Amino acid sequence: MKPLGHNHDGYHGETIDIQRVLAATDRAAERHGWERTALGRQGEFELRVLRRLARAGSPRLYLSTGIHGDEPAGPLAALRLLEDNDWPANVTVCLLPCLNPVGFTLNRREHTSGLDLNRDYRQPVTAEIRAHTAWLEREAAFDLCLCLHEDWEAHGFYLYELNPDRRLSVAGQMVEAAAQVCPIDLHEVIEGRAAQGGIILPKIVPADRPDWPEAFYLIQHCTRLSYTLEAPSDLPLPTRVAALVAATKVAVHYLAELKP
Ligand SMILES: [Zn+2]
Repeated sequence: MKPLGHNHDGYHGETIDIQRVLAATDRAAERHGWERTALGRQGEFELRVLRRLARAGSPRLYLSTGIHGDEPAGPLAALRLLEDNDWPANVTVCLLPCLNPVGFTLNRREHTSGLDLNRDYRQPVTAEIRAHTAWLEREAAFDLCLCLHEDWEAHGFYLYELNPDRRLSVAGQMVEAAAQVCPIDLHEVIEGRAAQGGIILPKIVPADRPDWPEAFYLIQHCTRLSYTLEAPSDLPLPTRVAALVAATKVAVHYLAELKP
């Protein structure tokens, strides 16, 4: 599978009509009995939280995407996951299908203010991330958090693992699942960080980072195991969606087996 060669100084690939994608997402969620609430608003958009409740004591999954408005594969993957409805019975899921819908109307990574929302989690200044962190504070801890992204510079799929307690990792299985549909970025350095087999294990020293991404907030306050999945934007959109969906499904089934 060859890169399309579209992206030189940013993302120039396919775009999505986020209003339509979110409407389809809502329909799929409703069809399968998910609960929908809002954690806040962004312009004309509601920042949705979709929730699938399993019985009390079930493992809890957090899944978010769409924080970067030039990464359409994430919201499409969220929609596909809802439509497939292939969730283990014993997993509670909180799905945030799009954290920056206005960004998608502009095909732009950042918030309208120019800020990267995924760098606003240390001391949030944007209304969206304040609302998001306020909502997270009210939630019980999650057993696993997944953040779905794309990288327009990537040569293949890769992921970041934050796993401070060295819990059983599902990174290798996620990469294997993605590899069934998409090349893996096998470079030894990705985004300036050491990588091996498409897996980056960043050092977690949040105090040293002035601009926390969502995953840093999650690992500090909400979970002890978090993955950020990155699909390569220079491959066709259906391939990127398939890679994110395949990796997510593996992680969800892993979670279901952890605490039956
Ligand atoms: Zn991103």
